Amino acid sequence: MATDSNKFQAIISHCKEYGFIFPSSEIYDGLQAVYDYGQWGSELKKNIKDYWWKHMTQLHENIVGIDAAIFMHPTTWKASGHVDNFNDPMIDNKDSKKRYRVDHLIEAKAEEMRNEGREDEANGLLDELDKFIAKDDFDGLRQLIINYGIKCSISKTSNWSDIRQFNLMFSTQIGSVSDETNEIYLRPETAQGIFVNFLNVQKTGRLKIPFGIAQIGKAFRNEIVARQFIFRMREFEQMEMQYFIRPGTQKEWYETWKEERMKWHLSLGIPRERYRFHDHVKLAHYADAACDIEYEFPIGFKEVEGIHSRTDFDLKNHQEYSKKKMQYFDSEINQNYIPYVIETSIGLDRTILMMLSEGYTEEDLSTSEKQDSRVILRFPAKIAPMKLAVLPLVKKDGLPEIARTIMDDCKSHFRCFYEEKDTIGKRYRRMDAIGTPFCVTVDQQTKTDNTVTIRYRDTMQQERILADNVKEVVLKEIN
Ligand code: ATP
Repeated sequence: MATDSNKFQAIISHCKEYGFIFPSSEIYDGLQAVYDYGQWGSELKKNIKDYWWKHMTQLHENIVGIDAAIFMHPTTWKASGHVDNFNDPMIDNKDSKKRYRVDHLIEAKAEEMRNEGREDEANGLLDELDKFIAKDDFDGLRQLIINYGIKCSISKTSNWSDIRQFNLMFSTQIGSVSDETNEIYLRPETAQGIFVNFLNVQKTGRLKIPFGIAQIGKAFRNEIVARQFIFRMREFEQMEMQYFIRPGTQKEWYETWKEERMKWHLSLGIPRERYRFHDHVKLAHYADAACDIEYEFPIGFKEVEGIHSRTDFDLKNHQEYSKKKMQYFDSEINQNYIPYVIETSIGLDRTILMMLSEGYTEEDLSTSEKQDSRVILRFPAKIAPMKLAVLPLVKKDGLPEIARTIMDDCKSHFRCFYEEKDTIGKRYRRMDAIGTPFCVTVDQQTKTDNTVTIRYRDTMQQERILADNVKEVVLKEIN
């Protein structure tokens, strides 16, 4: 059975074995921190996307969605501050030549101290880290690394370089001539696609403040320390919403969105104690308040979502750089202004990892007669990749034909899986392992009374229901 410390590894292996997530271009030994979603992973991803999209747009009448391009005019990133400020402080070990993100190196040391029962010292170290980061004090940070005897995991030495800033944006060339004027970036966040379209959407949608614009899409960051599976990737997906508000109202809206987003997280069936808010000590260049929603992964509490009060920073800068007015006329107060913005930004891949971490369970089913166990992914039915498996008990006597009728009744309503190979027990286990909440088995009795056995993934309880009712039972659960 996996303990918490090796649960993470167990999840990674499970994802590969059961078609959720593969290392990218694996036949060439993979590409660091890039992953591909397989047949069940992509279904899970799509369901989470749809759930977020529906919650943000359909359930909020004043939020609309867009789908902006990944490539944007390069001045966008000047205006947003990413060209000058989207940096992480890094340090190199001169012996191994390995590069580390300074905050990660120090956090890892604190974690190690915590594991040794030195909780107070670990907290002290993290407080000092926060203090130096907030002041951009690189000498102080380097001294901290030296004082705590932090060593490179490869060379095992403390032969550290000075700390330097590295920009995280990927760049490439547009067009056929490669010179500096053709340099463009792969977007490091989806938010700017929303800001540059702010007036297009507001005017064509005749939207009145407060209103929001949501977007789901890929973002790219040249993360230096890229490990921890899909937690930190170089190509990932964000689900972001920018909420445009009257200046001066940002504090209330910030609190409202913190609450609203936490409600969404809880609606995934995850208990409140697995989440916490973490207020930022060092605010990003655009924010006047910011916090993270952290979830307790098997590798500890880590950020899943950021909520940021971005002021009018982005729109004001786009106005300045583009020389196009970014103002809104508020007819209620008869004033023109550049709106303030509250952003909610959640990583889709981290949400997937959160659902895998929460759902992954190894159960010991051994009895005095025999050893037995199963692995289940306890996904809420609404996001499970596959909702229903239809299984004829045997491959003859007309049972497959009846099972096919049930498939035909259900498959246009939700994702169903048909299988007739192997014993029923093995088939149930395979469905548990990909998180299918319901299996129905067609047997000889079905031919006489038109009932099937429905088996529930989490409890393994079975009951007989009318074959004609299968669709309704499943629909009720997934809605
Ligand atoms: P971190 O501190 O972990 O680097 P961040 O604070 O830079 O994250 P944001 O810029 O606030 O992250 O991005 C919003 C969300 O996008 C994050 O909460 C996270 O879920 C997701 N995200 C950011 N970077 C990555 C990444 N490299 N891989 C996967 N998801 C990411």
